[in-house]
Amino acid sequence: MSRIETLAARAGSRPDPTSGALSPPLQLATTFEHTPDGQLPHGFLYQRYDNPTQQGTEQALAALDGARRALLFPTGMAAGATALQALPAGSHVLLSHDSYFSFRAIAASQFPRWGLSCSIVDFTDLAAVRAALRPDTALLWAETPSNPLLKVSDIAALASIAHGAGARLLVDSTFAPPVLQQPLALGADVVLHSATKYLGGHGDVMGGVLCFADDGEHAAACHQLRLLAGATASPFAAWLILRGLRSLPARMAWHCRNAGAVAGFLAAHPKVAAVHYPGLATHPQHAVAARQMREFGGMLSFELAGGRAQALAVAARLRLFTNATSLGSTESLVEHRASVEGPASTTPDRLLRLSVGLEHPEDLIADLDQALAGP
Ligand SMILES: *Cc1c(COP(=O)(O)O)cnc(C)c1O
Repeated sequence: MSRIETLAARAGSRPDPTSGALSPPLQLATTFEHTPDGQLPHGFLYQRYDNPTQQGTEQALAALDGARRALLFPTGMAAGATALQALPAGSHVLLSHDSYFSFRAIAASQFPRWGLSCSIVDFTDLAAVRAALRPDTALLWAETPSNPLLKVSDIAALASIAHGAGARLLVDSTFAPPVLQQPLALGADVVLHSATKYLGGHGDVMGGVLCFADDGEHAAACHQLRLLAGATASPFAAWLILRGLRSLPARMAWHCRNAGAVAGFLAAHPKVAAVHYPGLATHPQHAVAARQMREFGGMLSFELAGGRAQALAVAARLRLFTNATSLGSTESLVEHRASVEGPASTTPDRLLRLSVGLEHPEDLIADLDQALAGP
């Protein structure tokens, strides 16, 4: 078994038998020749069911996450919504309290229609997780590190709590792609990634992935739902995601190095009241993070001692960090999450989230330094 850097660098790369081409082909066909009686000599019928480019990307994703099976979707939300809709009707879901904003919105607005119920719990408090279990709990939905507070929950402990209750554990590992964290190896049953972020890595493609530890009932139900309801990624998106995967380990090393340097700078700054980065020894779950993550990622958030007005002023003065949503691309971004999440937001209004990109760390620190110094 090759190491993850080797798997990624060569993902999808095998010389094409007809041309010798090394980089993977992009196959856009919507339909594939079958025999008169409907046999599929090449295994493909129709693009929505399966297509060669999507299949190649899914194989690479499964290998990187150590999964039995990976399913690709047009967005991270489509992947996550499918994992939820594929649960048996009547299922109860435990959702971590700071999971991605749109999943909490789905729980509030769609679960009643889908016949699901939900409890929202702080997953860093394992006693609270145990107390919230019900006989009909089918899924624990963790997100670690979480958005935007970078809380870290203990994947191995959550897996054993879930399995002890006959439930499954899904981990949204978008902030920690496979190079940094391997939730399936720690006992999780499903990993979710928004491929729009680090897997694509260049801010130019949307996608979502579910990686399954086993090829059982839940994976089959998700596959069937995608096939019937049509949440199939376009071949072009699949191709761009595969292209991104090939440099994922190298990019992540640089993202982590830069974020570590920025976190250290902010932690020592007098105008900064708090820095949320799992790599800092002062992070409340640093020990858990050090146990389950290889490195600590490219995302962090910090709180300004001067409150909301100062947070907005700093965001306005930054020049290299662009005010924009999303994360995981080559360029550094800043976002005042409370403004973007709106009135229902539980994010502190003095908090800024940074997606630390691939620029030189000294340039990023100089930009933060001038923005914090004020006009
Ligand atoms: C962005 C994001 C999602 C949703 O992914 P999309 O590709 O935007 O649909 C889910 N979870 C986390 C943690 C995210 O950051």
